[in-house]
Amino acid sequence: MSVASRTDVAFQQCISPRCGATFSIDEVHTSCPVCSGLLDIAYDWDRSRPPSSFHFFEKKWTRRSDPLAFSGVWRFHEMLPFAPPEKVVTIGEGQTLLAVSDSVGAFVGTRPGRLHLQYEGLNPSGSFKDNGMSAAFTHARMIGAKRAACASTGNTSASLAVYCAVTRLMRAIIFIGSGKISYGKLSQALDYGALTIQIAGDFDDAMARVKEVSSRLGIYLVNSVNPFRIEGQKTIMYRVLESLGWEVPDWIVVPGGNLGNSSAFGKAFSEMKHVGLIDRVPRLAVINAAGANTLYELYHHRGLRWQKGQVDLSPACHYYDELDRDKKKANTIASAIEINRPVNLTKCLRALEECDGVVREVSEQEILDAKAQVGAGGLGCEPASAASVAGAKQLVAEGVIDRDERVVCVLTGHQLKDPTATVAYHTTDQSLFNDVLGSRGVSRASFANRAITVGNRIEEIIQAIDLYALG
Ligand SMILES: *Cc1c(COP(=O)(O)O)cnc(C)c1O
Ligand SMILES: [Zn+2]
Repeated sequence: MSVASRTDVAFQQCISPRCGATFSIDEVHTSCPVCSGLLDIAYDWDRSRPPSSFHFFEKKWTRRSDPLAFSGVWRFHEMLPFAPPEKVVTIGEGQTLLAVSDSVGAFVGTRPGRLHLQYEGLNPSGSFKDNGMSAAFTHARMIGAKRAACASTGNTSASLAVYCAVTRLMRAIIFIGSGKISYGKLSQALDYGALTIQIAGDFDDAMARVKEVSSRLGIYLVNSVNPFRIEGQKTIMYRVLESLGWEVPDWIVVPGGNLGNSSAFGKAFSEMKHVGLIDRVPRLAVINAAGANTLYELYHHRGLRWQKGQVDLSPACHYYDELDRDKKKANTIASAIEINRPVNLTKCLRALEECDGVVREVSEQEILDAKAQVGAGGLGCEPASAASVAGAKQLVAEGVIDRDERVVCVLTGHQLKDPTATVAYHTTDQSLFNDVLGSRGVSRASFANRAITVGNRIEEIIQAIDLYALG
């Protein structure tokens, strides 16, 4: 099968059914020029004719010397057929892992064999962002962009920087807020040579500025308002299904920041159902941090719903006005989801409706305890990722998720992204604990693995090992 691609099968379309305006994929938009809503990449599936069976994708495993068959994103090219193969940009993203974890499952409350962790920390830059970045870069290459920019809590900038460094296709310009980025992530952007602009403000401020600057200077914007990013992130779900022998799980649980991932997952499942690859979609759970809980607030307390596209956004506008009036800023140790104005809000509402979704918020304590359990289970993650596990635990306790159901928690970023949070949790140094965690209302480290301090004497060391490692 050849990939019939480009303008004959792919176009951009406003997600609002009231507007529905369409645009060529040769154009660059980060919002609908007619109504300023979000844009989708849409396909004429009748013309592009995606494979009728998943085994088509499996066969590509035998062609791993072909970079397009090797990539965990482009192996599924037929499900995002907007680019001609010769324009595709890949640096080997998407070699990720779905692992059953009975120890994390016991913590969450599911029966053995049921809890799965989709470990996206294995991507080249250490987070799921590379899935979307390879797709955005591909589009940037199609239209000949020379500079790309993003606002970032850290991982988008790390991803943009590594794609620029490896491919040399564009110059990276990243906008970060002051004091909010973890060293693991900042070090990547600096090391990979990105032009790094730190502005006095938080992520939401950086996002507003980068949009203005990009449109004034004609710089290609790679935040997840870029609809091509979302196309790449769909592939996380194809890989989940692939790892499950193409069976649809009962639940997908994902942290919610800018809500690009949850939006992408919903789109992936809707499209697979539309083209007949699956006959049912899983349920979706989107988990906010309590300190950055816009989706939770709007969904639970202000009745915001997609309503088949007839969404009334006035509750969101009022809420944002209140945030401004009260000078309320997002605040959570899960810095990757420390976002109060999620740019993909409406797409996420659509995904929640299409996947019979739920929204929860989790505390800093719940996030850190879940993170420690994930680490102890062997696939460490950063705090934001652990929100998915903490959220799954809540949903099992409520009886919303049944203990027998098959649950996939997406671990969005690698453990080494934020060593400060990990060390502060496990530390014996009370002032470090207080500085980093106590100040956030975290009162205990229930699963801390504390270092044992001994003198520089062989007997003391042997005694400690006998005592703690049980002979
Ligand atoms: C970006 C990011 C998120 C948030 O994802 P959204 O798609 O913006 O909701 C969560 N976890 C990590 C590690 C991230 O880098
Ligand atoms: Zn529109």
